[in-house]
Amino acid sequence: MTWDPLLRLKEALGPEAELMIVGGAVRDELLGRPHADWDLATSLLPPTVMARARAAGLKVIPTGIQHGTVTVLLEDRPVEVTTFRSDGDYLDGRRPESVRLGVSLVEDLSRRDFTINAMALPVGGGDLVDPFGGQVDLAARMIRAVGDPLQRFAEDGLRPLRACRFASQIGFTVEPATLAAIPLRLEVARKVAVERVFTELDKLLRGSEPHRGLVLLVESALLDLWLPELRPMLGCGQNRHHRHNVWVHTLEVVRQVPGESGLRWAALLHDAGKPGTRTTGPDGEVHFYGHEARSKELAEAIFERLKASQALRKDVAALIRHHGTHPTAAWGDPACRRFLGRLVGDNLPLERWAAFRLADQQGKGLDLENRLGEHQGLMTRLAALAAAAPALAVRELALDGAALMRLAGRPGGPWLGELQRQLLEAVLDDPGLNTADALTALALEQLRNTN
Ligand code: ATP
Ligand code: MG
Repeated sequence: MTWDPLLRLKEALGPEAELMIVGGAVRDELLGRPHADWDLATSLLPPTVMARARAAGLKVIPTGIQHGTVTVLLEDRPVEVTTFRSDGDYLDGRRPESVRLGVSLVEDLSRRDFTINAMALPVGGGDLVDPFGGQVDLAARMIRAVGDPLQRFAEDGLRPLRACRFASQIGFTVEPATLAAIPLRLEVARKVAVERVFTELDKLLRGSEPHRGLVLLVESALLDLWLPELRPMLGCGQNRHHRHNVWVHTLEVVRQVPGESGLRWAALLHDAGKPGTRTTGPDGEVHFYGHEARSKELAEAIFERLKASQALRKDVAALIRHHGTHPTAAWGDPACRRFLGRLVGDNLPLERWAAFRLADQQGKGLDLENRLGEHQGLMTRLAALAAAAPALAVRELALDGAALMRLAGRPGGPWLGELQRQLLEAVLDDPGLNTADALTALALEQLRNTN
């Protein structure tokens, strides 16, 4: 396991320097998973790393000297090289008060969070250094804190959430004592900056087994710190369209939908409004009228708390808004085009709406063959209608606002928007009308009628 440019760095640092691959790169290599970056650790102090790397013609950036980190560019890829270090006391539950450089490799590994993240491999070959049983835990597919989990989670409140995130990304379980320590350290976890919380939750949701991570959030009560609005979904019973309760259905949809941020967050939140809108009709049937709007409100509250980006908020709002629309074979083409127009208005591509709907249908767990067949048929039809590129919005009409003002001999005003909407309605019913001549005739008729 290695990447050739690392050997060049090893040569630059000299034969007596220890240079080890550490952390996630070792874990992922041993698991045969792709990883984005190489984390390196060395016995040399940062000024020596910088001097020797530069002398060998490598570009070096002093990114975090006070923590012992310099970044070396290897074939244009930034690689962080951190001096073996130990952490001083943690007083605020977030970061150590100080770090001590120049300690032994084993001491450096002992400050790391989980045994599977606390192994090291020498660059250029040599034995794996594994003082805390990381390999055994990898084989057992288990996330276990290095040392006493209660103490480790008292030091840094982010670690419990990282445990849940790794469970989702690599499909492991959390070792019982490690899991049991999380609810006892919620007060520390509460102090973590929301930006870091959001990043971890987002990685958790994008993982390959996100339902594992979510179940762990529930079991450990981390859910109640950052996503308390979701708790009522647990055990909330549904109706004859669903095999599962709201929470289990949600886990299914999160699992089924492609692993992309917007789709996964939308899956998590799309039915959050159901518990609050649940009613039972005279016939005993359960309904969730207006739950989409309620889910959107709850999503907004959660995203506000977690300081999510505006782009994500809009994307998720659109997915939630349209998840309750179920076009059927009985819909005429004009109704389908109106629906396509609403998706365009919300910047939601048809394919993403469809990917979400498919997962939502699968998550119902009933009558799957029929549902899938119906979904395919519907998508073929909607895609064909969209491919004909009909005008779906006012800006796509063959006559623009200026032309209509000339035609009416009037400056713009509320009348113009109203006229454009009427023309669009006509074109949605019959796309053949979207020509300058046909729209001129229609517009003149409308203007006569309203005068
Ligand atoms: P990924 O890069 O896939 O998110 P990773 O395990 O590499 O996973 P990083 O955040 O890149 O995680 O951290 C690199 C290594 O640093 C970890 O593997 C772990 O050894 C250590 N580490 C990171 N964050 C913490 C923490 N909060 N507490 C203790 N050790 C940590
Ligand atoms: Mg990493």
